[in-house]
Amino acid sequence: MNDIFDVIIIGSGPAGLTAGIYTTRASLSTLIIGGTAWGGQLMLTTEVENFPGFPEGIMGPELIGKIRKQAERFGAVFKEEDVESVDFEVVGDFRVVGDGEQYKGRSIIIATGAQTQWLNLPTEKRLIGRGVSSCAPCDAPFFKEKEVIVVGGGDSAMEEALVLSRFATSVKIVHRRNAFRASEIMQKKVFDNPKISVIWNSEVVDILGEEKVTGVKLKDVGTGETKEVRIDGVFVAIGHKPATEIYSGQVELDEKEYIKVYDHTRTSKVGVFVAGDVHDYRYKQAITAAAFGCMAAMDAEKWLEERKS
Ligand SMILES: Cc1cc2nc3c(=O)[nH]c(=O)nc-3n(C[C@H](O)[C@H](O)[C@H](O)COP(=O)(O)OP(=O)(O)OC[C@H]3O[C@@H](n4cnc5c(N)ncnc54)[C@H](O)[C@@H]3O)c2cc1C
Repeated sequence: MNDIFDVIIIGSGPAGLTAGIYTTRASLSTLIIGGTAWGGQLMLTTEVENFPGFPEGIMGPELIGKIRKQAERFGAVFKEEDVESVDFEVVGDFRVVGDGEQYKGRSIIIATGAQTQWLNLPTEKRLIGRGVSSCAPCDAPFFKEKEVIVVGGGDSAMEEALVLSRFATSVKIVHRRNAFRASEIMQKKVFDNPKISVIWNSEVVDILGEEKVTGVKLKDVGTGETKEVRIDGVFVAIGHKPATEIYSGQVELDEKEYIKVYDHTRTSKVGVFVAGDVHDYRYKQAITAAAFGCMAAMDAEKWLEERKS
């Protein structure tokens, strides 16, 4: 293996893998440290209908498998390891430790994504892509003429509910408290929408269904009483957690702990670039993550070129 790679990419979702296609095709030696949960968020889902190039749709893991193959075809070295720590102190001689081994890189692309915060119910993981989702722009069209719930009380929950209301017959927002923390303007849109209703002071304590979601069990947080509600879909909108712990003190993070970006894909550290959901809390789509991967790779390539001259 190389003593020092031109580029080390941390993360192997659409952002990291696309970056790998671009860096390898630019003849840069590339190490992708993809994580033990390699492939990222799309490995959790079933059908992806909005990634260009697949008119019939494609299963999430199959799409990721193809992008990984494309990056490896051009020579990317792939490690299914988690990065435990990074040292970005010396520009151009960056250190990354994964599985006890230290790797050196002339440049770095951070693409570690942002984890959906799930409800952590026993049936939830099994039913992701089978009625459970965290992405209305991705999955709302699957719920035409269906009944769905959205869990949460912030702006993202309002947005998810509004998107879903264009497809579903009814959308119920389940919220733990008796008031939302979402902005007034988003709340107004929700309250004005005849398809959306709210179940206050309630928690989802179980998601029901074998092959697909058939209902949820709700608990009234005041009385402790439980009841089952028949439902076709559950959209969890209680937040995302960017995977940025390992960069603390190495690159600047914003107030939400996402990587802070300067000038497209540059971070606060010269030679360290960023791509995908780990800095983008707005779009959070596979295609936008892939596009950011392309941009970060091109910026890294240009930066490496400039350093040589
Ligand atoms: C259920 C679900 C369905 C979705 N459906 C769609 C859809 O239909 N269409 C669409 O466009 N988008 C969809 N999305 C959103 C899409 O999956 C994300 O926007 C996209 O995956 C973000 O890509 P990314 O590369 O930035 O991050 P991720 O896909 O999150 O990948 C991050 C990668 O970083 C790795 N990583 C994290 N920490 C470390 C570490 N310390 N060391 C090494 N590696 C690390 C992870 O293992 C992972 O490989 C969906 C998301 C979910 C959750």
